[in-house]
Amino acid sequence: MTAQRIDGKALADQVLSECRARADALATRGTRPGLAVVLVGDNPASRAYVRNKVRACGAVGVHSEVIELPASASQAEVVEVVRRLNVDPSIHGILVQLPLPAGLDEPAILAEVMAAKDVDGFHALNRGDLFSGHTRFPPCTPAGMMRMLDSIDVPLRGREAVVIGRSNTVGKPMALLLLGRDATVTVCTSKTVDLAAHTRRADVLVVAVGRPGLVTGDMVKPGAIVLDVGINRTDDGRLVGDVDFASVEPVAGYLTPVPGGVGPMTVAMLVVNTIAAAGG
Ligand code: NAP
Repeated sequence: MTAQRIDGKALADQVLSECRARADALATRGTRPGLAVVLVGDNPASRAYVRNKVRACGAVGVHSEVIELPASASQAEVVEVVRRLNVDPSIHGILVQLPLPAGLDEPAILAEVMAAKDVDGFHALNRGDLFSGHTRFPPCTPAGMMRMLDSIDVPLRGREAVVIGRSNTVGKPMALLLLGRDATVTVCTSKTVDLAAHTRRADVLVVAVGRPGLVTGDMVKPGAIVLDVGINRTDDGRLVGDVDFASVEPVAGYLTPVPGGVGPMTVAMLVVNTIAAAGG
C-alpha cells in the first residue's frame, strides 16, 4: 500500500475560492472583511507565517494590516494596540502572532482580544465554546485538519483517534473536535509511556510535537490516516514534519506532506474565520 497524499495546498486553494465568493457577497452589502495581525519582535518564522496570511487575505479580497512592534514593547503597549483594534470598525478579525517575546504575558494579551474578533479562537470564551462542542471560531490548525478529514470522506464515528501533543493551540483543540465527531480519542504527551502502543491502534493519527522523525512506519496501523502538523527545519535548510515520511508512506492509507499539508490549511481557515467574523 502507498498512502494517498492529502494535498493541503490544493484543498486550501479550494477553501480560499469559496472565501472569495463569500467576501464578494459581503462587499456587495458594503462590508469588506478586515484582518489585523499584531506582530511583536522579529522572529523570522513568525514573519514568514504572517506574510502567508497577508497574501491569502489579499488573494480573496480581504483587507489585512500588520501592526509591528519591537521585541522590547511593553505589555501595556501591546494591550493598547489590541484595544484600539477592538474598536476599529474596519477590522473584523484580530490575530496576535505567537509566540510573543519572553517577558510578555501571553494569556493576558490574548484575553484582551474581544471574543467577536478572536479569529484564532484563543480567547477563553471561544475556548469554552469549543469545550461545549459549538464554537464560532475553531482554532485554525485543528479546523484545517478537520476539513482535510472531511475531504477524504472517511467516517470518524467510533474510530480510534490518537493525538500526539497537548498544546492549547493544536493538540487539545484537535482532540475536542475529534471527540465532537464521536471518535474515541487518546491524547499522548512527552510523559506517555510506550507511545507506539497507542499510535498502532490509531485509525486517525495526529502528530503535533515539533520533533522530526518521531513517528516511523512501525508505529502506524496499516491504512491509518496520518496528519502531520510538525514544522521543523533540518540542518540543510529543508522543512520536514514530525512523521518519517519514507517509512510511513508505505503503511498509511492517507498522509499529509510537509510542506504543503496542514500549513496551508491553517492559513485558509484563518481567512474563513475572518469572513465569518465580518458576517459572511
Ligand atoms: P508545543 O506547544 O511545543 O507542544 C508540543 C507537544 O508535544 C507537548 O504537548 C509535548 O508534551 C509533546 N511532546 C514533546 N515530546 C514528545 C514525545 N517525545 N512524545 C510525545 N509527545 C511529545 O507545540 P505546538 O505549538 O503544538 O506545535 C507542534 C508542532 O506543530 C511544531 O513543530 C509547530 O511548529 C507545528 N505547528 C504547525 C502548524 C501548522 O499550521 N502546520 C501550526 C501550529 C504548530 P508535554 O505537554 O508533556 O510537554
